[in-house]
Amino acid sequence: MLDCAIIGGGPAGLTAGLYASRGGLKDVVLFERGMPGGQITQSSEIENYPGFFEHGKTGMDFMDSWQEQCFHFGLKHQMEEVKAVRRAGEHFVVEIAGGAPVEAKTVIVCTGSTPKRAGFKGEDEFFGKGVSTCATCDGFFYKNKEVALLGGGDTALEEAFYLSNICSKVYVIHRRDTFRAAPSTVDRVKRTANIELITDASITEVVGDAMGVNGVKYKDKTGEEKLLGVPGIFVFVGHNVNNGVLKDTDGKFICDVNENGQVVVDLRMRTSVEGLFVAGDLRMEAPKQVVCAAGDGAVAALGALSFIQEQA
Ligand code: FAD
Ligand code: NAP
Repeated sequence: MLDCAIIGGGPAGLTAGLYASRGGLKDVVLFERGMPGGQITQSSEIENYPGFFEHGKTGMDFMDSWQEQCFHFGLKHQMEEVKAVRRAGEHFVVEIAGGAPVEAKTVIVCTGSTPKRAGFKGEDEFFGKGVSTCATCDGFFYKNKEVALLGGGDTALEEAFYLSNICSKVYVIHRRDTFRAAPSTVDRVKRTANIELITDASITEVVGDAMGVNGVKYKDKTGEEKLLGVPGIFVFVGHNVNNGVLKDTDGKFICDVNENGQVVVDLRMRTSVEGLFVAGDLRMEAPKQVVCAAGDGAVAALGALSFIQEQA
């Protein structure tokens, strides 16, 4: 039986693996369906991870050394899609797609979240080359430039406000004329001089060339197609939380989740089930940043260590 199974090899899972294996747990296995690294490997540049400040390094370059460091301290990686985590008496069973179930004393779930795509033409082609889902990460690349933003929820309008402090102008494109975001946030955005709201509008296409995006086409309320000559478009149309592995056969979650599907944890990343921890973007109120996911992973692994010591 494993001391600890970690599901998902993004910043949270890799950091949990480092702390768990270096902290003395035996048989720590990271189940990751692809190459470890997580969402950040889609990023063209990372500038906000303290201590890592190398221009031109991609998210992929950034994550390279993380796995090397983990494997050095004994973390094992199985390239497997996890189907489900089940409680079985005092321990857990991890059901994997490609093989026999694996038993573990503790489990740390770090399957992250996936920003939703809006579905307009060019969105996938230019993702990471002008189409972004992270203003904190990529806003700075558009300092003093005009950008467009899609969405009308809290995330979209809060990020529009964030971008308005960096960019010369932010065009917020929203498909309705009322907003899902909190009224106070809508008011603040409306009072911000360099934010222009384009409502009842839908993006038809993002255009560009080998250098990246250079324009966003949208249909306005009259049905006329218009072009904004912007180098960047931020898409905030919600997130899918990757919580599927925590669903039981009856479709109910094995631990508490909130109304957005995010897992409820305490400050030690403990879920409502003893021995089951969650870290990173999957948890409630996650700031959705690499540094925070890594911090969560470390906290969860320390929790798993204490749990096993208490059981011994
Ligand atoms: P993730 O990174 O989402 O990793 C989850 C992992 O779990 C994935 O590797 C996935 O393959 C795996 N997985 C999921 N389900 C299963 C399963 N069933 N079985 C096995 N494996 C599974 N943050 C910053 O701080 N700075 C930035 O500059 C920045 N830029 C970004 C740019 C882009 C384009 C994107 C998309 C995000 C960016 N972020 C940035 C946000 C940051 O990447 C995330 O907050 C962070 O990666 C979350 O880490 P995580 O480990 O919780 O989850
Ligand atoms: P959200 O509330 O689901 O909003 C998504 C927005 O994207 C909506 O305006 C929606 O339009 C639009 N949209 C969805 N699909 C689209 C598509 N294909 N094309 C164009 N537009 C599309 O998501 P969120 O803003 O990320 O918020 C998620 C949850 O977190 C919410 O409960 C929110 O309140 C919460 N949150 C809270 C805070 C805070 O309290 N400060 C901050 C951030 C998030 P419609 O409105 O027309 O559906």
